[in-house]
Amino acid sequence: GSHMAKVYIEEKPKVTFKDVAGIEEVKEEVKEIIEYLKDPVKFQKLGGRPPKGVLLYGEPGVGKTLLAKAIAGEAHVPFISVSGSDFVEMFVGVGAARVRDLFETAKKHAPCMIFIDEIDAVGRARGAIPVGGGHDEREQTLNQLLVEMDGFDTSDGIIVIAATNRPDILDPALLRPGRFDRQIFIPKPDVRGRYEILKVHARNKKLAKDVDLEFVARATPGLTGADLENLLNEAALLAARKGKEEITMEEIEEALDRITMGLERKGMTISPKEKEKIAIHEAGHALMGLVSDDDDKVHKISIIPRGMALGVTQQLPIEDKHIYDKKDLYNKILVLLGGRAAEEVFFGKDGITTGAENDLQRATDLAYRMVSMWGMSDKVGPIAIRRVANPFLGGMTTAVDTSPDLLREIDEEVRRIITEQYEKAKAIVEEYKEPLKAVVKKLLEKETITCEEFVEVFKLYGIELKDKCKKEELFDKDRKSEENKELKSGEVKEEVV
Ligand code: ADP
Repeated sequence: GSHMAKVYIEEKPKVTFKDVAGIEEVKEEVKEIIEYLKDPVKFQKLGGRPPKGVLLYGEPGVGKTLLAKAIAGEAHVPFISVSGSDFVEMFVGVGAARVRDLFETAKKHAPCMIFIDEIDAVGRARGAIPVGGGHDEREQTLNQLLVEMDGFDTSDGIIVIAATNRPDILDPALLRPGRFDRQIFIPKPDVRGRYEILKVHARNKKLAKDVDLEFVARATPGLTGADLENLLNEAALLAARKGKEEITMEEIEEALDRITMGLERKGMTISPKEKEKIAIHEAGHALMGLVSDDDDKVHKISIIPRGMALGVTQQLPIEDKHIYDKKDLYNKILVLLGGRAAEEVFFGKDGITTGAENDLQRATDLAYRMVSMWGMSDKVGPIAIRRVANPFLGGMTTAVDTSPDLLREIDEEVRRIITEQYEKAKAIVEEYKEPLKAVVKKLLEKETITCEEFVEVFKLYGIELKDKCKKEELFDKDRKSEENKELKSGEVKEEVV
């Protein structure tokens, strides 16, 4: 009918993992989805618990669509894709009908994958300012999507993968268990990743001997997979225009100039000076993470800009199922302020940067909640400020029934907490300035270093840091490996034989 969504079905997607480069960890993490799609019944018999929905988030062009399609390709199942923006129409009811159709189609093709690009078009948090289409329409569409997600069973062999570059604006209802409860961040590639991606896209092109892809990878920090593909395509066009048989370094450099000029105009490239500042900032965070007195693990450290707010998981408000004590919260604030502290120690008071915006916001937010919600300030006492949603502030809240004196006292306590942790962070950076310099050097070279490499560098200076490196790179891995023990041991056996 006329309300049919622009659903696009690829019965046998040809894309496989070979076509996706530079995000090995992510590929590892989604392997079990492939196992599930290949044989949903067997997978569950062996104790695997497949997710219904997976949210891929990251900047445009990092390969979210490509990865989703490759999962379907690897599993040999149909890839049914639709864009969130196609659901949002002016006519009330159309979007919801389209969602129903989509899931009907999927049930006919199961096992299969539904891929919803730009999920934020449908899944924007309710109460946010509407863009295009009305509120009601989007809300109905979103509700229908939630109903459908809740309605199917994992034994049906359907998996829904959604993609967005704005995880921060999604309605939390979408992220609840049984919906898109697995969230995977796709980062921009680092040097190695860029090299691998360039190799993938060079496969079907004739490159002259002088082309050094490693050099190209080094020259392209901040570029995504899509940018790199574009770079080689441009170079091929230039070569063809010149009547050359092969792409030489000359065309690649020319194409690179064009692309980076375009990106520079948009403010998307990083200069060496900026790179150094980012490296020092990130090293500062990692150092605090490694010396702080809590059990939070430190991940890898990267200077590839995320260009967007931190991941969903980190942004979601502290959930009530976890309990943090005051000391944990001080440590969290310390880690958040580590970046700015390192900037100040290395570059002086006037050398601090705007890169700390999000850190300061989160640190202040935590301190504010410590004082005004969790009764963690002796001076203010165990009281909670009453806050109500302010309809004029798009979801923000305003304190009510609180005297100006008390509010001032809260502000002072928040400032005291932040300042104390900031001074502490600076002292720690001062103490470890030399090894930290060496870490920064390494970071500038490799763009991404592991926690272990960080600790190694400190060892060279005779400093033993606590063993806080995350062993498993992937979140949730522990739980999953428990659940899939039988499956995993089966795999291992095959390898041994
Ligand atoms: P997104 O969905 O994140 O916006 P896409 O998956 O549409 O990005 O990427 C666009 C194109 O860029 C892909 O079709 C592919 O050619 C190239 N590309 C992006 N990321 C990668 C990658 N990791 N490896 C290989 N090619 C990539």
